[in-house]
Amino acid sequence: MIVVMRPTATRDEIDGVRRTVEENGLEAFISVGEERTVIGVVGSDLERVAHLGTLDGVEQVIRISSPYKLASSEHQVERTRVRINGVELGLGQELVVMAGPCAVESREQLMETARCVKREGARVLRGGAFKPRTSPYSFQGLGLPALELLHEAHDTYGLPVISEIVDPTDVPAFDEHVDIIQVGARNMANFVLLKAVGQSRRPVLLKRGLSATIEEWLLAAEYILSAGNPNVILCERGIRTFETATRNTLDLSAVPVLRSRTHLPIIVDPSHGTGHRALVAPMALAGAAVGADGLIIEVHPDPANARSDGDQSLSFDEFGTLMDELRRLQFVRTADAQPMPATTSVASGEIEDVRNRIDDLDARLAEMVQERAALALEVQRRREPTAHGHDVRRERALLERAATGTTGPMSPVELTMVFDALLRASRSVQRRHAQSATEADAAAAGSGR
Ligand code: PEP
Ligand code: MN
Repeated sequence: MIVVMRPTATRDEIDGVRRTVEENGLEAFISVGEERTVIGVVGSDLERVAHLGTLDGVEQVIRISSPYKLASSEHQVERTRVRINGVELGLGQELVVMAGPCAVESREQLMETARCVKREGARVLRGGAFKPRTSPYSFQGLGLPALELLHEAHDTYGLPVISEIVDPTDVPAFDEHVDIIQVGARNMANFVLLKAVGQSRRPVLLKRGLSATIEEWLLAAEYILSAGNPNVILCERGIRTFETATRNTLDLSAVPVLRSRTHLPIIVDPSHGTGHRALVAPMALAGAAVGADGLIIEVHPDPANARSDGDQSLSFDEFGTLMDELRRLQFVRTADAQPMPATTSVASGEIEDVRNRIDDLDARLAEMVQERAALALEVQRRREPTAHGHDVRRERALLERAATGTTGPMSPVELTMVFDALLRASRSVQRRHAQSATEADAAAAGSGR
């Protein structure tokens, strides 16, 4: 800490600061300059002289080290890795996706969602039991029975579960039923609650307060750490700004800022961060790109009829598409972390057999696709070698035929997706060949001159 004295400070005032520092068991190093005097204050408990700025002759007090000792990367360089029942979060681990409904509404709703998110590759199931709603008339959650349902989902699907606590006296129930205790944005500065979860043996996910600075957030984490719980995960979930187009402003710059200030793992919540279903996937990808250790996403079997946060909840299909994208970009590598509990028992030999048939079919499909591309090029050569060979009307007719001409498990929409991709690849081949034909013409023309 550095105390800067006013240029007009007297000898007595400088002495007064030195005395206060020393009386509090700290050391003062006085440096007298041409214009003013500065005093370096050194010691382990600088909080004791937090009032130095109010002493006579003092202009300002500058803190050099961070006030959050345990959360700070100044004192722990190695990044903390939080272990949650077989799932590891932080320090070079694969992105951990937590997903599930905003609120647990019924056993069916929870189990159906658990099945879906597990199948898609989520590794933690979320579900609110106690909902801190802005209005007292909104759905407040099912309470303890919801925690028991989460416990049941954990046992059935082998997914660790996370739920939000609102009352410090509930810590024993959370210890019993959930794997991660969430402290919500509205309770980030509820210091009684922070101290209580600090005594839990469960990891704590601490959301950023609605209008909390990063320093206030890290000091909130410090409450949990200093109460004895080292497993704190920070969650950026958007802050209040003047913008009204989104529910909150998702502050993704907080991720790299935190990375430089703390060793704690950081996850991003694009659901509460945006408030709109259509914005969740792009901001989830952005969160992963900016270096988050995980994501937490609201998913509901029927978002339009959700009892809370339906507008920002993804349908199963939308969640699956997001997971595909996260896998395509290699943020998520595993298809599913653990095998699904078998509903019908299929001998592994039989599965191998079916998989081999799929592999054979894929090889044949690849050959057929190549053959199709060669024919498309043939059309192009016969028409005009330097023009694209495709014909928009024929493509549209082909898509229509493909979508309706067969029966099988694929819906017309899914079949259209396949042919759409095929046509896109085919156009790319034709464009590339038209381009090289043009270049060859140009070269011939050049050498003829
Ligand atoms: C929640 O996760 O359901 C929730 C209430 O989040 P937040 O505390 O970020 O508003
Ligand atoms: Mn919610």
